[in-house]
Order: sequence, then structure tokens, then C-alpha cells
Amino acid sequence: MSWKKTTCVMCAVQCGLEVEVEGNRIVKVRPDKDSPVSQGYVCRKGMKVAYHQHNADRVLYPLKKVGSEFERISWDQAINEIAAKLKSVLQQHGPRSLASVGGGGEFNFYPLRFMAMFVHALGSRYQYSSANQEFAGRYWAHGLTMGSQMLDLTPDYENTEMLMAVGWNGMMSHHIPQARRVLTRISKDPDKLLVVIDPRLSETAKIANIHLALRPGTDALLLKSMIAIILKEGLHNQEYINKHVDGFNEILPWFTGFDVDGALRTCELEYGQVLKVCREFAKRRSCLRDDLGILMNRHSALNSYLLVILLAICGRIGVPGGDYLGGGKLYSDPNDPKTWRTAVTNIPAIAGMFPPNVMPEEIANDRPDRLRAAFVLASNPLRSYADTTAYEEAFRRLDLRLPTTSCPAGRPMNPGPRRRWTQFYLLGLSPETAPTTQAP
Ligand code: SF4
Repeated sequence: MSWKKTTCVMCAVQCGLEVEVEGNRIVKVRPDKDSPVSQGYVCRKGMKVAYHQHNADRVLYPLKKVGSEFERISWDQAINEIAAKLKSVLQQHGPRSLASVGGGGEFNFYPLRFMAMFVHALGSRYQYSSANQEFAGRYWAHGLTMGSQMLDLTPDYENTEMLMAVGWNGMMSHHIPQARRVLTRISKDPDKLLVVIDPRLSETAKIANIHLALRPGTDALLLKSMIAIILKEGLHNQEYINKHVDGFNEILPWFTGFDVDGALRTCELEYGQVLKVCREFAKRRSCLRDDLGILMNRHSALNSYLLVILLAICGRIGVPGGDYLGGGKLYSDPNDPKTWRTAVTNIPAIAGMFPPNVMPEEIANDRPDRLRAAFVLASNPLRSYADTTAYEEAFRRLDLRLPTTSCPAGRPMNPGPRRRWTQFYLLGLSPETAPTTQAP
């Protein structure tokens, strides 16, 4: 028996873990105090890593659909047969017949990039990802305002004096290192403020210093009102704007004379409370954090656009205590003929990705350039994406389906009843090949 250091892979934070291993099985888990990312912090998902790693439902070897049943085959057979089928599909129908689909499922943070690169190397640009539906509005807004669709705005939690959480319940969903510690520390500090904008009295709203419990779906009205108030009160940072912002005068008319009172009545918020938040946000070293509460809600692209304007006019981008820029440089220009579009629905890539909601239509049609082969990674599109019936019917028309559970501690692609719809070949990693139990 020995303790090994590793990381949790169940969300992008990747907290440090120590696992006690006996006979290549995890028998105990504890937080890794030496991890520079998590410093001994871990959520309950990380503590349950052994449940996922050794789950009886995991797929541990390649399976091939023969008739209505799956049969175990060797890796050599799986790879050779898949390669031959894929070659045939690509030779007959070209790279536009091939797509990858995945993202959003647990445990796919490590291998997702490899699948995208693999499909890319075969000539296809069709990467269907739930990220394209969750973050498409943000990608779009950040592309237009900051030049890269993959640029993220990340709060400077350490140095901020005010964190405004918009549609983010970090106490439960985490998504940042040591989320509960960070949020609790800010809310308890008498010199700092935690403001939560959320219709629900969420776990994060419960510890907030100010909670704006707006009516659901009115976030854009609130954000526009806040910008209008800040400009009207002269709270904006003109020096920062002069130095770093283009087009300020062009957007001013959108906010001048805006009926803030009427908008806030629709939001079911009191003017005085919103004014107080605006004043604090403009005068403090403030930052903000958005999440799926607004990104998957009404007016999601507009919300993301307004958030950038709010940060920019208050001079809070790229400054200590504000939101700093991270992520890659990528801009899928819909006006560039080289940017791929979906064949049937004519949707351009955003940040190089396509929305899974249109995938069934792209498969289930009679066009010569329809999708015919799909690599599915660490996700179960027939259950997790919208319109499961359309997915089930469409996936029956694929010539080659390749769901994989290639993540080390992956929640299994359950080979039970669901498999009859999804899989032609089903690939999984055995515990012997899973790196979670290996020392770094
Ligand atoms: S926050 Fe939880 S799920 Fe995310 S990496 Fe840390 S332990 Fe894992």
C-alpha cells in the first residue's frame, strides 16, 4: 500500500489529491495540502474519485456491436476495423462526413483536445461541443469586443475588493480553485463585498453581502440599467476609457435616456439597491464572474456583451483586483469563406466549434455531404443533448459510431440499456491503463 499524488479530473480546477493504492485500486482519498492550486481544498466529488474509478459499470475494453449485442474484441481488432471503416467513409464522402462530439461531460478535460486534433488531422473541422451551446454567446461577444473568441475574463480573487457573481452559484458548482474558501473569505471580510445577481436564494446568495434577486430572464435589462446609471452618475473611468477603449462614444446613445426606472420595475428590483451596487462597483477594485445562469439563459450573447461594456467603462479589465484576460487566440470569422458551416443548418463555427443541437439534422438527411461518422468522447449525446428522440433517430443513420470512455476516472458510458442506441464500437480504458492511480 502506498500514497500517490494525483489530481481530480472531475472539473477543470483539478484539485490536488492523494490516493492510497492497494493492488492498483484506490482505497483511500485525501486532499493534497502541497497542491499549489488547491492547497488542501477538495470538494465531495474529488473525495468520491474511487467510486468513479472502480465503478462496476465502467467499460474496460473495446466492445463491438454484433447483432443486438456487444462482443468483447481486442484493441488490435478494434483499431484495424475502425481504421478500415473510417478510411472507406472518408474516401467515399470526404472529410465533411466526419465529426467529433463531446464536451461538457465529466472527465473529458484531458482527452478532448486529442480527439479534436485527431479529427482535424483527418481533414474535418466539425467539432460539436456543448461548450458551443453553453458559451457561444460569450465567445461571440468576446470575439467582437476583444478580438479573440477564446479570451476569458477571470476575476483576480486575491486582490479584489468586490466580487460580483452573475448567474454563478460557486458555493455548489465551484469552477474556480478553492471556490468555497474564496467566496466565504470575501463575504466575511469587512473591507470587501460579495454581490450575487441571481433570482434564486442560492447557496452563494445566502452568504452574499448584497443579493440582487432579479426576476428570471431580466439580466440584460439589469445590466443595461447598471451601465446607464454609471454613465449618468459620471462613475465611469474616463482615463481608462481614453487609454484602452475604442468606440465609447458610439455606444453612449444606447444608454443615454434609457428608462432605468421602468427597466428595474420589470426586473423587480429597487432603484436604490442597484444604485448602491453600481457605486460600489465603480469605486472599488471590483471584478465580476458570470456563469451558466446567464450564459444559458435569455439574451445570453447580449448579456456577455453588456458585461464587457460594464467592466470596460469602469476600467476593470486587465487591472489588479479586476478581471484579467486568459485563454487562447481564436476567431472563427463567419464572413471568411474558409470558416466551415454546417451543411444543412448553415451555422458557422464559433471558436472553432459547432452546437450539438443541430447535429441530428446534419446526419438525418439525404444530402451527399451529410455527416456519416462520429467520434463521441466522454459524453452521451443521446441522453444529454436536447431532443433525444432526434438524436436516437439520427445516430441510427451513421455508418460509424465511436463512443469512447477514454478518461482516466470516467463516469462510464453505461453499457446497459443505453448502448443499444449509441454504439457501434465502444472503447474504454482499463484500470491498468488509467493514469489516475499513477504517481505524477
Ligand atoms: S472542485 Fe471538486 S470536482 Fe473540481 S477538481 Fe476540485 S475536487 Fe474535483
